Amino acid sequence: MDIRKVGVVGAGQMGNGIAHVMALAGYDVLLNDISAEALDKAMATIRRNLERQVSGGRITAEEMAATLGRITTTQDLPALGGCDLIIESATEREEIKQKIFDALLPHLAPHTILTSNTSSISITRLASRTDRPEKFMGFHFMNPVPVMQLVELIRGIATDRETFDTCLAVVERLGKTAASAEDFPAFIVNRILMPMINEAVYTLYEGVGNVRSIDQSLKLGANHPMGPLELADFIGLDTCLAIMNVLHDGLADTKYRPCPLLTKYVEAGWLGRKTGRGFYDYRGEAPVPTR
Ligand code: NAD
Repeated sequence: MDIRKVGVVGAGQMGNGIAHVMALAGYDVLLNDISAEALDKAMATIRRNLERQVSGGRITAEEMAATLGRITTTQDLPALGGCDLIIESATEREEIKQKIFDALLPHLAPHTILTSNTSSISITRLASRTDRPEKFMGFHFMNPVPVMQLVELIRGIATDRETFDTCLAVVERLGKTAASAEDFPAFIVNRILMPMINEAVYTLYEGVGNVRSIDQSLKLGANHPMGPLELADFIGLDTCLAIMNVLHDGLADTKYRPCPLLTKYVEAGWLGRKTGRGFYDYRGEAPVPTR
């Protein structure tokens, strides 16, 4: 199937990146959010990131202008009905995603492929509540989208071959690499990554190390480019907690229980970089550990 117009729902840290790479690859993009402020912020971020690509010589000023010209923002969700492909990338809460799909369904063209950028929620379950489970799948980008090479493509139980092949062709046109994952809680990357981050929070909670020593240990001792707590702040602690809950509920194994300290940070609204504070405080010149 030929994809020309792509709808992106949710203009947060992931949604703006998805709109960026899609428009840069030549797709017309309709970017939706319930918040006008989020849309303005997303366009400012896309512009800033494109400028960085221009100054780094990776794209030309003309390509940047054309990319920006291919992105339209809207708070009107039904306006996405005519898109060939929709990537839902709103907040990681099933009821929010469910409401978005319910509101979109009556307006979709018959051929529209529906996908979700969810980090962990069951693709099969989301698909089963739509009128097109065979045209539904997981389209999971990594953060930051313009930089990270991988896209996980997750097949629900009913996803058909044409839908998978169409999404695979989109990933290839983006110049990215697809990993195909079966639909089990948190798929491949987060099934492995999140228990490691959660274990780092337990290590902090139990006083085995502090924020700095834990991050330094994994950076210098395991050659990770970022420490696990720094990475958790980057991802968003609410997202990390949501994924741990999905693993815990979905796999029914206590080894996935979220660390109470992670829950406490989320309850405090210390969600990481996006709120200015998490395991580090980002409000000053340099990040300062909060424990
Ligand atoms: P975010 O909090 O930065 O952005 C979420 C956006 O969704 C906000 O702008 C919010 O206003 C918007 N939103 C909420 N309800 C909406 C609705 N009804 N209609 C339209 N927009 C709505 O979150 P994020 O980090 O961009 O995560 C988005 C999705 O991407 C989640 O499913 C998350 O699991 C997934 N994801 C996140 C990461 C990561 O590292 N943060 C990586 C891969 C995938």
